[in-house]
Amino acid sequence: MWRRRPPRPAPVRDPVLDVERIRRHFDFPATGRVVTNNAASTQPPRELLELYGSLTPSYENVHRGQSTASQRTTQLFEESYDTIASWLNAPSRRSIACYRNTTEAINAVLYSLLTEFRDGDNVVTTLMEHNSDFVPWYALSREILPRFGRRVQCRVARFDHRTGALDLDHLASLVDERTKLVCVTGASNFLGTKPPLDVVRAIADGSGYLQPSGERRSLLLVDGAQLVPSSSVDVQALDVDYLAFSFHKVLAPFGVGVLYAKEHLLEQSLPFLYGGDMIAEGQVAPDLVQYNCLPWKYAAGTPNILGTIVSAQALRLVLDLVDGASHWFGTAGPLPRAVVESAMARIGQHTRAMTDRAHAGLQEIPGLTVYGPALGEPRSPLLAFTLAGMDPMAIAAGLNRLGIESRAGCHCATLAHRELGLTPPASCRLSFALYTSADDVDAALGALRRVAGARR
Ligand code: PLP
Repeated sequence: MWRRRPPRPAPVRDPVLDVERIRRHFDFPATGRVVTNNAASTQPPRELLELYGSLTPSYENVHRGQSTASQRTTQLFEESYDTIASWLNAPSRRSIACYRNTTEAINAVLYSLLTEFRDGDNVVTTLMEHNSDFVPWYALSREILPRFGRRVQCRVARFDHRTGALDLDHLASLVDERTKLVCVTGASNFLGTKPPLDVVRAIADGSGYLQPSGERRSLLLVDGAQLVPSSSVDVQALDVDYLAFSFHKVLAPFGVGVLYAKEHLLEQSLPFLYGGDMIAEGQVAPDLVQYNCLPWKYAAGTPNILGTIVSAQALRLVLDLVDGASHWFGTAGPLPRAVVESAMARIGQHTRAMTDRAHAGLQEIPGLTVYGPALGEPRSPLLAFTLAGMDPMAIAAGLNRLGIESRAGCHCATLAHRELGLTPPASCRLSFALYTSADDVDAALGALRRVAGARR
């Protein structure tokens, strides 16, 4: 029923990106590190680290001072929301809330909807979710709402063990007129699967759930943590209700995550955090508090001001790194859609080529199993694998001794590891970014062959 035509392998134009030039913006290549653990976090370019320092002459809190410095910081901070909104093709900054990371952004959705779940409702998620998009819904149904006397189920859709594809028929069978929310990853951080979000949207649309807005459809939340770094994401075209991602996977330093939400949802739902700055100026009395306009209703307390400014500039810098000639970094305002789409298409093509190169090499190593889509099928730029007779931790340690950075464990995708019967629930993962070179991939493969060869 929900089958699609088999995708054709993506055409690889070479060179899609001038990786050598891009790498000159980073400190890590000079150290000899082979950074192939980018699904965990990417490396920050030098410009972004320097930007922190250069902002301090105009350093002041936002919305809390009349000094020139405060006004300047406020302007930079507010304009960052415009950049972020345009990156996702959100209608305006009013749909953007900034948190610490994807995890906090998803929890913000949980708390915003807490009062809206009725007895007998359900949430549908999948077995390929990161724990950040499963544990909150588990906790909601098993821990939080039962304490308020409400029973809400958390239903979990399967995936195909061989291909890693989300079982859309099973997902559709779980969604019914009591499904308030469907929560799906945009790209699995273990299998690499990219579920067809248009089909997932159609399934959520067909539920018939009566939302307070009068709409009869389930809300759709997309965990975009692995999707946003390597694809152009258009929240309006996808018609998602919520989308979360973390900037530390898009070249920015740690500390800022984003929740996109449809404006009417942010208008009608309760905030996650209460306190200063999320209230309309002067509108607090013992018996009446009026919330601030969007997006500041969702920005209680002093935010991560410099982090937000630098994170938005990371997006602008990505455009310059890809293009080599443009100067978006250091400017403000919404970004043109065509520019974002073209840059992300080139990043997608490059990381895809690196992933395919690595995938082909991995398949030649005896006893090695790669999980998720077959070579040539769409996947996010990561490859998780196991090696017969070798603990994934030992593989990662062996790679590290040879200068290759990887990640072993269950990558917080514990359900999927258990589902595949991996004991201990672990695999080793290599993952790529716009600065990954073919030499990096070949070095990782060479090291892995040595590690595998040393097996007893
Ligand atoms: N979702 C996915 C798919 C991820 O890969 C990650 C991080 O690896 C997260 C959620 C959680 O991101 P964070 O730790 O920034 O909250």
